[in-house]
Amino acid sequence: MLNKIVIVGGGTAGWMTASYFKAAFGDRIDITLVESGHVGAVGVGEATFSDIRHFFEFLGLKEKDWMPACNATYKLAVKFENWREEGHYFYHPFEQMRSVNGFPLTDWWLRNGPTDRFDKDCFVMASVIDAGLSPRKEDGTLIDSPFVEGADEMAGLTMVEHQGKTQFPYAYQFEASLLAKYLTTYSVERGVKHVVDHVEQVTLDERGWISGVTTTDHGDITGDLYIDCTGFRGLLLNKALETPFISYKDTLPNDSAVALQVPMDMERRGILPCTTATAQDAGWIWTIPLMGRVGTGYVYAKDYLSPEEAERTLREFVGPAAADVPANHITMRIGRSENSWVKNCVAIGLSSGFVEPLESTGIFFIHHAIEQLAKNFPGDDWNPVQRELYNDSIAHVMDGVREFLVLHYVAAKRNDTQYWRDAKTRAIPESLAARIEKWKTQLPDSETVFPYYHGLPPYSYMCILLGMGGIDLKPSPALALADPTAAEREFEAIREKTRQLTESLPKAYDYFARMRG
Ligand code: FAD
Repeated sequence: MLNKIVIVGGGTAGWMTASYFKAAFGDRIDITLVESGHVGAVGVGEATFSDIRHFFEFLGLKEKDWMPACNATYKLAVKFENWREEGHYFYHPFEQMRSVNGFPLTDWWLRNGPTDRFDKDCFVMASVIDAGLSPRKEDGTLIDSPFVEGADEMAGLTMVEHQGKTQFPYAYQFEASLLAKYLTTYSVERGVKHVVDHVEQVTLDERGWISGVTTTDHGDITGDLYIDCTGFRGLLLNKALETPFISYKDTLPNDSAVALQVPMDMERRGILPCTTATAQDAGWIWTIPLMGRVGTGYVYAKDYLSPEEAERTLREFVGPAAADVPANHITMRIGRSENSWVKNCVAIGLSSGFVEPLESTGIFFIHHAIEQLAKNFPGDDWNPVQRELYNDSIAHVMDGVREFLVLHYVAAKRNDTQYWRDAKTRAIPESLAARIEKWKTQLPDSETVFPYYHGLPPYSYMCILLGMGGIDLKPSPALALADPTAAEREFEAIREKTRQLTESLPKAYDYFARMRG
């Protein structure tokens, strides 16, 4: 029976994969994870999708078990600053879009003659975030809001059951390097063999399948299925098996990042429970508040900005707290492998593919890939249909996310540097161009967004279109004739709920401080 897995790479991808398969298959699976002692893993302070809670639930972990160990905080949204113009911001929150008489509330909002903040008018979470609050009450229960209805019922859904279901009202921000460490202990305690050694060589058999990896000090390590978690190197999939890599650079030019991990007194600073993406002259800066520090970095395109200029801008943005913090310059390989599963090798994580971290999709890609592999786990016959199903689903997720990210740049009103002007004239995926034309007449719905599962529901597209401000949008003509009473009631219900929540929820920092004891 095919049950011997060799994972090469001990970053977040490697350890998430090892821990998940141990939780899924227990002693019936034999896992060896080998990671180099001298090639580091990526860890910049990561933000996630709300689906990630299913990963932790699947492992049987509660927030209080793992969050303090990873300096984790809650993320209720991505906050976009200065993408429209200096001083403007909006949230893309984890909150279901209300609909009234079959039309999304944002459509009614457009009909009413837009105010400055669609997010505050249509979601409760925007005000909760502005006030720096926790989505959980003092006693740990989740906010009881019809706007997050169905969220709790999703607890306990496993594998891929949750995909495309109700949005959970928050995700997490944490140090991925600490999560990898936490999951190392989890996995080793459950029987994963951990080898710290450098893989020097990957050996192929006469069919071109991987027959083993050779390490410096531990000799050959062999298995049935090899999982390539070696990061941007793609040591097994891209190098040994020569699988082509499809670059997205023609549509997403950001290929570099400089990151800082800035220690901070978060009690004094307070925690804004979201990830902030602040537009810059040649890219954008992320700000991720964690317990004890802020993770920040400038994502930029080398065609427009040098690494030195990027670092200087980032340091000025952060201020004196960054003075003694070493900068981490990273070249990002943007795109995806043509196929992430080839022969007996599956790449998961950066080796499979990556897009710039604008909507925090890196760990979502890992989680999705793991679940798809569990669903399509190979049998002794290596049925090629499973490989095909897996590869299709990975390609769809990444291509869909690429469309969503390109939309950010096309829709952003900002037009004051060559970088932003080029974003409006650069070729975009044809399918996206056709969709944008439709969205100018009718806000996105499930019929008009990217048609395969990619983690982003139609309301996410609405948020970006309405927030970025560079594309003219119209309300549905039908709403000019429709009775607005029910919509007005809904807007008032949001205002009332917002008042209740902002008066009762604890500060995000206080909530985590209590969790840490
Ligand atoms: P790595 O972390 O690169 O790990 C590679 C592993 O392979 C290491 O353990 C290394 O030792 C091992 N290895 C390499 N060569 C060998 C060898 N020859 N022998 C043995 N072992 C070897 N994701 C999010 O979800 N949200 C975010 O906000 C986010 N922000 C990001 C910002 C930036 C700038 C970048 C670059 C990434 C970001 N990510 C984010 C992605 C996230 O950090 C990664 O997806 C995640 O850490 C997984 O990385 P990995 O495990 O695939 O690769």
